[in-house]
Amino acid sequence: MQFHLNASLKNVHTFSIDQTCDALVEVTTIEELISVYQDPKWQSTPKLMLGKGSNMLFTEHFAGLVIINKLSGITLTGSDNHHLLHVNGGEDWPSLVKWAVEQDLGGLENLAMIPGCSGSAPIQNIGAYGVELQDVCEYVDILCLDTYTVKRLSKEECLFGYRDSTFKHALYGKAIVVAIGLTLPKVWQPCNHYGPLKSLPEETLSPQTIFNEVCAIRSSKLPDPAVQGNAGSFFKNPVISKDHFDRLQSEYPTIVGYASENMIKVAAGWLIDQCQFKGVNQGGAQVHPNQALVIINYDEATAVDVLKLADRVRQAVLDRFDIRLEHEVRFMGRDGETNLDKALEALV
Ligand SMILES: Cc1cc2nc3c(=O)[nH]c(=O)nc-3n(C[C@H](O)[C@H](O)[C@H](O)COP(=O)(O)OP(=O)(O)OC[C@H]3O[C@@H](n4cnc5c(N)ncnc54)[C@H](O)[C@@H]3O)c2cc1C
Repeated sequence: MQFHLNASLKNVHTFSIDQTCDALVEVTTIEELISVYQDPKWQSTPKLMLGKGSNMLFTEHFAGLVIINKLSGITLTGSDNHHLLHVNGGEDWPSLVKWAVEQDLGGLENLAMIPGCSGSAPIQNIGAYGVELQDVCEYVDILCLDTYTVKRLSKEECLFGYRDSTFKHALYGKAIVVAIGLTLPKVWQPCNHYGPLKSLPEETLSPQTIFNEVCAIRSSKLPDPAVQGNAGSFFKNPVISKDHFDRLQSEYPTIVGYASENMIKVAAGWLIDQCQFKGVNQGGAQVHPNQALVIINYDEATAVDVLKLADRVRQAVLDRFDIRLEHEVRFMGRDGETNLDKALEALV
């Protein structure tokens, strides 16, 4: 294993912001991962497990060790009714989905083109077009950082929620995802009730046609991080009370919201768009001109540009709709994870 000291992070996260860390190393096996964590040299150093960095903003130099997940390997087994995919954590998620569709293994097609590693997918229970990871997840294998043993968690133990799981709470900082198990039914059922997928003719539905449609929509709507740095949806869709939603709806009849248990999930992109933020710049950062929920690295943006723009967006939405947006993107500060408020405080 090679440790790169004072390494650049520009090419290991999709925002592609010029930021650095004390050290960076790639791990290809669980044994290597354990040896990094047990190495006395790095014992007191903050550590960050990173997949493709597609949900990250490094707000300043990270005075720690970045460990890149390169655990590879996919095994396909099954029972009478299901295919079971055991996927090691460093496998690229979009490549996995494409491969599964090519093998005629249906069930992952709605989750096409979500950047990242398979081992990162359970962290925020990735989701798109009516499907979330929890719908196909059978188990998650973790390396416990107190015992250095691998333990299998059932889907229920992962406590999946909207962009949420136990890995953000009880197991935060205590476990590394080393593999996931996905069950795909042998009798495939399309999930085409969501938005534009509804218009696909029933007789043409197959994993491949849904995959193609999802790829086409995503390519037309979302900026490609390889061209314009970004981390996907910057904010989560806020969940508000029905009363609050009704009040807003009487004033803004076109507000977009979906029932979510007893609450209403509001489209954050719509809120930001109403505040006229599409195409607004702050230094080198910009709210994407066609997709208000995405902040892009328009022109050599610094993390400070992104933070200031995010703050302006959040404040405008709060002032106008009395809704406080929470960022979906994970923020990494000098010594560990941070958030928009703390990162802004650190600027002054
Ligand atoms: C253009 C674009 C579109 C996107 N679209 C969607 C979408 O439709 N739906 C959606 O849900 N998300 C979407 N995202 C967000 C992103 O793709 C997901 O969050 C993805 O799962 C992140 O994977 P990653 O490997 O890049 O994680 P990273 O950004 O590398 O890491 C994210 C967090 O997970 C932690 N982590 C990573 N790996 C591990 C591990 N093995 N064990 C423990 N912790 C770990 C990291 O420490 C970090 O806190 C999009 C992002 C982009 C750039």
